[in-house]
Amino acid sequence: MIRRNQAFSYLTGGYLFPEIAKRRAAFAASHPGKKIISLGVGNTTEPLTPHITGGLAAYARGLGTREGYTGYGEDQGLTALREKISAVFYPGLIGPEEIFLSDGAKCDIGRLQLLFGRGVPVAVQDPAYPVYVDGSVLIGAAGKAGPGGYAGVTYMPCTAENAFFPDLSAVPENSLIYFCSPNNPTGAASTRAQLQTLVDTARARGCVIIFDGAYASFIRDPSLPRTIFEIPGAKECALEVNSFSKPAGFTGVRLGWTAVPRDLKYADGSPVIADWNRVMTTVFNGASNIAQAGGLAALDAEGLSEMRSVTDFYLENSRIIRTALEGPNFKKAGVSVYGGGNSPYLWVKFPQKQSWQVFDSILNQCSVVTTPGSGFGPAGEGYVRFSSFGHREDIVEAAGRLGDFSVCP
Ligand code: PLP
Repeated sequence: MIRRNQAFSYLTGGYLFPEIAKRRAAFAASHPGKKIISLGVGNTTEPLTPHITGGLAAYARGLGTREGYTGYGEDQGLTALREKISAVFYPGLIGPEEIFLSDGAKCDIGRLQLLFGRGVPVAVQDPAYPVYVDGSVLIGAAGKAGPGGYAGVTYMPCTAENAFFPDLSAVPENSLIYFCSPNNPTGAASTRAQLQTLVDTARARGCVIIFDGAYASFIRDPSLPRTIFEIPGAKECALEVNSFSKPAGFTGVRLGWTAVPRDLKYADGSPVIADWNRVMTTVFNGASNIAQAGGLAALDAEGLSEMRSVTDFYLENSRIIRTALEGPNFKKAGVSVYGGGNSPYLWVKFPQKQSWQVFDSILNQCSVVTTPGSGFGPAGEGYVRFSSFGHREDIVEAAGRLGDFSVCP
């Protein structure tokens, strides 16, 4: 019989959302008729907006005609869409030829690991979006899990004590650094000075940064960088994954991109972009043409304004939840609320409590589902993530219920 890829037996994560679902189901079974509200997932909830839907629908209808039908498209994605992404998100920074369209940021993160292969040291923010570490395990870069985590992974704690920006002195030479800002799960958006430190460290140590900008569209503070490429020197040490998922509601439609600067080189001087082109033409066959038509509409003036309204809507949700979490019951218990403002996530510290303990208390008392911070990494222990993706009436109801929550029952 064929042998299983050993890497699968090394995976330790992956239990977080199934465990949440299990506890939610058990609560539902013992409380029939009770409405459970989820503030636990990063999935979008609001309908697609009219101009963007129009772009998708018109293209889909065209596919049913001889004139409008298209099959496989350009390898890197539609030139017109790459030009728009370059102009809207990276003016004067990244050209259309450095942009590769895809079926989403998560999928690109998985494929990017092929560029560096097994054995490459990995450094991640802790807590972190799980695919950075789990993807590294699958490619054989992370090694076996031991008591401190995976052997090949350096975990860089990001907690309230360091304002959620890691101590970079631990970054190994010639490593791959995963960095996400605004961050999932902490909601922290790094400043220009912080990202400059990150870029300077990466260049000094021969590292490559995989910068995840999936939440950049939530940034409202004009002083905060919206892409790593605003930072001098980033083009020599970073590539960026990004997505239409959260701003356009394309979590199900699927459209993202990766920007790989021509100046990004391996140790032997060869360009990373050439290998990325090879990966994308070998194991990927182009982003959906319908999704790309939606992406084109999203980057029209009307589409940009619609995306702004949708992200404003979720940010208002996060403001409503924050107000509840800053109520007297939470204040008395010393609870601190971080994130929001430039991110759809609130990251909430409950002193002297374990994340799962808080999760259970909120579920039992308020019928509200959250995400235990410890599921995103050891430094997430004691925190709980509140997501602002939800219908307004549910958010308002959940906020009302949180007002009655007793932190120390
Ligand atoms: N990156 C981060 C940090 C995320 O939180 C998510 C989704 O929640 C993604 C990437 C996934 O993006 P996509 O839907 O484009 O695959």
